[in-house]
Amino acid sequence: MNKITRYHSIGAVVRNSLRMYDNHFKVTLPQNEAEQLFQESVELIEVETTSYCNRTCSFCPNSFIDRRSKKQSMPESVWQKILDDLQSINYSGSFVWARYSEPLSEPRIIERIREVRQAAPECRISINTNGDFLNPDYLNKLEEASLNRLFIDIYIPDEETYNLEVAKKYLKKFSERINRSYQVLNTSPEVLCKVDSLKLSIVAVVRNIASFKKIDMSDRGGLMQNARKASRTAPCYAPYKHLVIDWDGSVVVCCQVRSDSSNHANTVVGKIGVDGLSLIEAYIRLAEWRQSLRTYGAKKSPCATCNVSEYESTLLTRSLSRFLVNTKSPVIKASKSILHPLLKNKNRF
Ligand code: SF4
Ligand code: SF4
Repeated sequence: MNKITRYHSIGAVVRNSLRMYDNHFKVTLPQNEAEQLFQESVELIEVETTSYCNRTCSFCPNSFIDRRSKKQSMPESVWQKILDDLQSINYSGSFVWARYSEPLSEPRIIERIREVRQAAPECRISINTNGDFLNPDYLNKLEEASLNRLFIDIYIPDEETYNLEVAKKYLKKFSERINRSYQVLNTSPEVLCKVDSLKLSIVAVVRNIASFKKIDMSDRGGLMQNARKASRTAPCYAPYKHLVIDWDGSVVVCCQVRSDSSNHANTVVGKIGVDGLSLIEAYIRLAEWRQSLRTYGAKKSPCATCNVSEYESTLLTRSLSRFLVNTKSPVIKASKSILHPLLKNKNRF
């Protein structure tokens, strides 16, 4: 994450505070109100459908939490519940495979993409991958499966000096493996390129521990000892806009934390499909987290040291935040209804 500028901080505080409603902080809601809140708020559903990752990167909690020795798939009942719920709410935001597994290690991913497309025809489907399993044939299949976006992290060894020449060497090797050309779009702080495809957006970025440190790598809810620890007072808007589901159906407060770490046990709000838990009900269960992250002030663990989207704390941002999160004020209510269409942002990922 790059340092968040003053203007970005002000914009984020204003936009996200104006999207808060009383119902975001209620732990029970009538079904119709819960559905409406979900539809108006959730921009991104992030999932993993396998437990497995083939790597143990030094900047990832997989360097000390085992995700390599077993390959466990998401239980069918959980997957089916996700598809049913996507369909019943006609979900049109982003649906992203990411988390702490390698999505392309699971051959069924092609079928899963088609199933999501069928359940939610308007949604934007994306995969974050380390690219290790990609080859020309696999890429063609992903294109044919109606995936919208592939984001590839090309991880180079930590021992390599991170510079343009080295990054280009690894990019060339990768492009030869997948038999596609590419154009470099950015060289700092990380080398980023667009890979040619007529059917989907493919972005690849070259990374290692040195490049991650340049962009202030996440401390993953306090798990990463090699990341900067913040004393967080900034608000966090992730649990307003995102719903994050692990391979066993566990729903957690945000994409930084892990249901398979005992340090983050308090961030799990339930398991999809268990006692019929739906995507919508799981989102409502995040109400107390939203309350605790609503505005500036000390945060509880694991947010207490989180350096992700750490908006600047100035007199202006603190005042704006405190003023705009007042969901009872008639002025704020009127501003929200006027600005509502402009504040929606469904396709960011
Ligand atoms: S960063 Fe990605 S590729 Fe590396 S261990 Fe974590 S999940 Fe796997
Ligand atoms: S502040 Fe908390 S909820 Fe927000 S990204 Fe960090 S760990 Fe997640």
